[in-house]
Amino acid sequence: VGYIEVGEVFKFNAEKSSQNIFRANEAAPAQQSQSGELAVSGEIKICDDKLAEVRKLIEEVKREQNVRKISAIMLTAEPFNRAHERLIRMTIDSSDLVLLFLLKSHGADEMMSFSLKKSVLEYFIQNYVPKNRLIIVPFENSNLFSSHLNPTLECIAAHRLGAHKLIVGQNHAGIGMFYDHNVAHTVLERYKNDLNLDIVVLPELVYCDECKTLVSTKTCPHGQHHHIKYHAQTLKTLLLAGILPPAILMRRDISAMILSELFPNRFENIQKLCDDLFPSNGLLEKQTEREFYENLMKLYQTTSLT
Ligand SMILES: [Zn+2]
Repeated sequence: VGYIEVGEVFKFNAEKSSQNIFRANEAAPAQQSQSGELAVSGEIKICDDKLAEVRKLIEEVKREQNVRKISAIMLTAEPFNRAHERLIRMTIDSSDLVLLFLLKSHGADEMMSFSLKKSVLEYFIQNYVPKNRLIIVPFENSNLFSSHLNPTLECIAAHRLGAHKLIVGQNHAGIGMFYDHNVAHTVLERYKNDLNLDIVVLPELVYCDECKTLVSTKTCPHGQHHHIKYHAQTLKTLLLAGILPPAILMRRDISAMILSELFPNRFENIQKLCDDLFPSNGLLEKQTEREFYENLMKLYQTTSLT
């Protein structure tokens, strides 16, 4: 990754900890804290700099497509669900380019590997959004952003990569501090001036069983008892139990990607299971576990005999 030529070793000054960037995530549990008692200083050289590559890509896309409005979204995407998808689409509607900051989660919150989360997003971008409108910014090696505890740092990161707008969804995990409109706006208002960064808090997205679609709580007249929320924890519980989440909550192809990674070689004879369950075009096709889940969901969604 890189190296540091150690010049000095010193103790952290506890009194100044609030000014220390490595202690910015103070509310995080101790085991997540990346800083100890001692610190080293010296010349740093970074060899494997993924962010530099992303920066280059952003510049290229900006040049080629005459990009004017750039928005940023911060997501742990664990797991990536239809509310995330809507959030991204709404953001693309109002900007030329969207920077999707993919954040690492820690401890009990970490259900799947960072690389799987990234593959899911790449798959989504490849298949469901216009080309070059969305760039993933992988924040794999920092936990400063992991729990959305530090909106200041999120604003600075978005600004530094060229965003003019930071989109904040109300309904994704850990973003509780944005629930109260008044507080959110007083906390973040100053960045409008300091960083020339607009902060947009989107209304909460839910599935309404009366509207029969994904709606924002602002646009649906039905009460909360008609709403199914996109709770990351609920989706995680289902996936970790090996169950396909309902398709109104997650795309079947994405659930299939995740389940086949979480439970590799789960079935003794996947081929027989597929041959017995799914109609085929007469050819003998070898099916992967990922295809198995996708086809299974198709069967679940069949409307006769239900
Ligand atoms: Zn409704």
